[in-house]
Amino acid sequence: MQHILEAAAALPDWLAAQGQPAWRAGAIRRWLTVGRAESFEAMTDLPKGLRSALASEFHIWTTSIARHTRADDGTEKLLLELHDGQRIECVLLREQGPGAGEAGARRTVCISSQVGCAMGCVFCASGLDGVVRNLTTGEIVEQLLRLQMLLPPEERLSHIVVMGMGEPLANLDRLLPALATAQDRDGLGISQRRITISTVGLPPAIDRLAAEHPVYNLAVSLHAADDDLRTRLVPVNKAIGLAEVMAAADRYWEASGRRLTFEYVLLGRLNDQPEHAHALVRRLAGRAALVNVIPYNRVAGLPYEEPTPTDRERFLDILRAAGVNVHVRRRKGARIDAACGQLRRAASTA
Ligand code: SAH
Repeated sequence: MQHILEAAAALPDWLAAQGQPAWRAGAIRRWLTVGRAESFEAMTDLPKGLRSALASEFHIWTTSIARHTRADDGTEKLLLELHDGQRIECVLLREQGPGAGEAGARRTVCISSQVGCAMGCVFCASGLDGVVRNLTTGEIVEQLLRLQMLLPPEERLSHIVVMGMGEPLANLDRLLPALATAQDRDGLGISQRRITISTVGLPPAIDRLAAEHPVYNLAVSLHAADDDLRTRLVPVNKAIGLAEVMAAADRYWEASGRRLTFEYVLLGRLNDQPEHAHALVRRLAGRAALVNVIPYNRVAGLPYEEPTPTDRERFLDILRAAGVNVHVRRRKGARIDAACGQLRRAASTA
């Protein structure tokens, strides 16, 4: 059986075969997204026969909530169990954006794109056991629906970051339809400008995104500004190289006109020293990019450490003094293992 939102394109034809008008496809989508219906039975303005036909043909839920945790700062995290017993994580972040009061209130979701990850970044919990499989479009959409249901009825999801488990650019075929569903005006209605895809930096896939959908914000995980160190931290760099990653990012910037973001996880004494900051400044020269500095979130069993406050501030000062736009990601939900990949591991080793 298929997830109903994954079948969206085929739904009008299916309805026609049932002798139903095509506009009911929109009504069903609204029930699921705006209406937060948990079953076809709850779609009370659909004919009863249609409701049971839908229920025998399509799924709304293929996942179940294995664990739901909530931190003091309002961050909530779901560990979802998939139909095959695999587990993935997704997070709801309650944030205050630039606007004042409710106008600036953000409801950002961080979603996964794969079970596990094949990229092998040495400090990351998601890839420790490699990749198991790609998520389906339905499984990606379900994360959005499940997280939306954690909000009170008057609140909506505002932003999506594809920064959970997995490498999104290794699963574009399933991710892109899910992101299209997220933008449906009479559905979740999340603007493309508020969707960010984070990638380890796979040039052919970045070029595909630039050619087909240069509408999303792209965040490229750099973590080091020279090839030797980056290859140590991000092993896929060995076959790609920083020059290629930067060139692909530049091409995406040209195609999209959106400001590029580079992510840089600060690992104590490994990539947080002044020479690393200076190398990063040189590497970014001439680009109006934003650097998102992420203090390391410790992963049980791994030897990496967060930077000392002195090293962190010195690193940031060097970037700022060189005119680089820097944003330091505040730690949210640390106590609920909200750094992606960690909860799944904690739950499977507990
Ligand atoms: N595969 C994508 C998405 C990964 S998650 C990518 O590589 O960008 C988003 C970011 O969190 C990446 O920059 C990743 O390197 C970083 N990250 C992974 N584990 C982390 C940890 N324990 N602490 C801080 N950041 C981490």
